[in-house]
Amino acid sequence: MPLVRPFRTAHAFETVRELLLLHWIGPHGEGWSECAADPSPVFFGEYLDGARHVIEHVLLPRLGTAERITAAFAREAMRRVPGNVLAKAAVETAVLDADLRGRGVPLADHLGGVRQRIPVGVSVGIATSIAELLEWVTAHVAEGYGRIKLKIRPGWDVEPVGAVRRVFGDELLLQVDANQAYGSADLTTLQALDDFGLLLLEQPFHADDLVAHARLAERITTPICLDESITSLSGAATAIALGAAQVINIKPARVGGYLEARAIHDFCRAQGIPVFCGGVLETGIGRAANLALAALPGFTLPADISATSRYYARDITQPFELTDSHLEIPSGAGSGAIVDEDALAAVTTDIRTINLQEQR
Ligand code: MG
Repeated sequence: MPLVRPFRTAHAFETVRELLLLHWIGPHGEGWSECAADPSPVFFGEYLDGARHVIEHVLLPRLGTAERITAAFAREAMRRVPGNVLAKAAVETAVLDADLRGRGVPLADHLGGVRQRIPVGVSVGIATSIAELLEWVTAHVAEGYGRIKLKIRPGWDVEPVGAVRRVFGDELLLQVDANQAYGSADLTTLQALDDFGLLLLEQPFHADDLVAHARLAERITTPICLDESITSLSGAATAIALGAAQVINIKPARVGGYLEARAIHDFCRAQGIPVFCGGVLETGIGRAANLALAALPGFTLPADISATSRYYARDITQPFELTDSHLEIPSGAGSGAIVDEDALAAVTTDIRTINLQEQR
């Protein structure tokens, strides 16, 4: 899937998105999911070929041939496989989507969603100059995005963030994401970001270093948000107990699926910790499901779920369009994503069919 514009973060420079989709065909319904793994282990430890192998040879055989396979059943069947959260999330989500479509239930209703329109923002990659960054942000604000997230890294932080704040004023909802790029020597720089009235500072330090995040939280007033650090409900509980997270970015893929994502949401809501739904440049298949999750009441910050046109000229589903910085959850059962077979065929490079019935 060619991206409309290259996306640069502290670790990666992406011009195309290579994806693995799962199309689950069961006796009672069909469902779709998208695996968040990239071709190489750059952002996540898992990678596309590895996830595909694990799905085919480790996870799917565990589902067996039960008459009705629900997401909860799949989750239980996969529980004893350590790690591999992206692969597990893909399987669980396809099964969940199929089960809900078969029963005519929208995913947002199943999860407990309370809204139909989701406030969203846009994530802006690292530019080659401040002039270019200001151009990008100007275009996004003109498109109607009411919240901007800037990717930062050492050498691309105080100056560009300050420039955006000066040009667009204090009213712009602004937050930054460091993708783990800083270390303990960068404390002064991170403290300087405190002057810009940011909604949050996301994942400044390494995912494992909860203590560094907790220490920084004591020295700045900007809320610290954790993304890469949070891979499970118990991990979220630990981070909150340590004071390492005042906000959590919930990415369903990173925590193993929508059921764990909902559990983290429920826990955070009870603890008074706001959450928002993150993204990984999803196609409409992942985008639709993420919108359903973001309908839950604790998702009080704008989601990182942009309109289709932010990433793709032609998506493999119906396009998602921005209205007043909101996206509408598609109506319809399951995620509500409608796969465009022609568009999908145009970008498909390989199809593997796995028949669980034959493995009996
Ligand atoms: Mg992030």
